[in-house]
Amino acid sequence: MRKINLSNIQVASSETARDINRRIVLNLVRSRQPVSRADIARISGLQRSTVSSITECLIADGWLIAGLMGHLPRGRRPTFLRLNTERVMIGIDIRPTKTIIATSDINAHFDYQEVFPTPPSAEEGIKELTLRLQRLMQTRKGVTFEGIGISLPGRINPQTKVLCFSPNLHWQNADLIPPLTQATGLEVELENAANACALAEVWFGPSDNIRDLVVVTVSEGIGIGVYMNGQLVRGADGMAGEFGHVTMDPNGPICGCGNRGCWETLASNRAATRYYDSKNRQDAGPNFKELLALADQGDVQAAKALDTMAVYLGRGLRMLAVGLGPAAIVLVGEVTRAWSRVAPLINKEISAYPLPGPAPRIVPAVDGEMARLRGTVALVLQKHFGASAFTDL
Ligand SMILES: [Zn+2]
Repeated sequence: MRKINLSNIQVASSETARDINRRIVLNLVRSRQPVSRADIARISGLQRSTVSSITECLIADGWLIAGLMGHLPRGRRPTFLRLNTERVMIGIDIRPTKTIIATSDINAHFDYQEVFPTPPSAEEGIKELTLRLQRLMQTRKGVTFEGIGISLPGRINPQTKVLCFSPNLHWQNADLIPPLTQATGLEVELENAANACALAEVWFGPSDNIRDLVVVTVSEGIGIGVYMNGQLVRGADGMAGEFGHVTMDPNGPICGCGNRGCWETLASNRAATRYYDSKNRQDAGPNFKELLALADQGDVQAAKALDTMAVYLGRGLRMLAVGLGPAAIVLVGEVTRAWSRVAPLINKEISAYPLPGPAPRIVPAVDGEMARLRGTVALVLQKHFGASAFTDL
């Protein structure tokens, strides 16, 4: 039996049936566009008159566009609905080394991007973002911006919205929302990068309709987004999912979090470059992209480094599979470019799965490079479209 959260009952009762129906209609258009009103009524079970009045409001509010697109027998031409792609979202993907600002339509189709080195402190970061956002908005006069979504390599306190844990980005305790809202006049949404990727998967990816999914981002560190029962899992302090900092080897390398031998010190891009034996080289050794290229060219050391990384990735993924029981685990990161090399090693570790029933599917993200940015669009939209209503359709 579902337990009712009494502290939240005011919120729940303030959402009228009409609001819920509005979200259902919006999500149906999103997932099935172009779609007719009759089909929306048929799929949702809502009355035709209800669908008509909701869609009229959504068209008036600028969310939907109606156009003549259908051809049926006897000359009938039903009006098909689709999302209004004129609405523009701003997505910001902050990574430890680089930051991307991009603009997108409602379907997460991006038409503009700028990339710059991530400033070393939160103070400088906010200054740089403010300048760039204001310049971007000035160059797009006449455009209505819907809001700003930001993906961060860290955890955000759900109450204060302050960045509370970011071992690979030294912006500890950054409070981004007030200055960026003030500078742009737009609403700003923040999310952990792995959570943003999980949202991208369920909103725009092939994992639509999946209710139990884990996303693992592998880059300088390892981030995990846990999406269970159709919603993101956050935990009491927003820290749920920090499996990257679970100790795998108490004698392992020192981690950015201060502990030793965390999973990310053994299975991240940084770990792979450390595994590469650089003693015969004059320079500091390859970065991760160069390591991938070297392995492709038949460099034995590079291949061995990737293999070691893959084994540790597999061990950590097995922990997630056993502990969380997801239907699928999606891997995001450059390592997926070497999928034919790493997948057999990862799957070998997963096949040691000790529970009955099938192990979760381990799949590389379709467009991992864009996953965080697509997630930022979902962040802006989910307020209007509902966080989980669409997964039940
Ligand atoms: Zn750690």
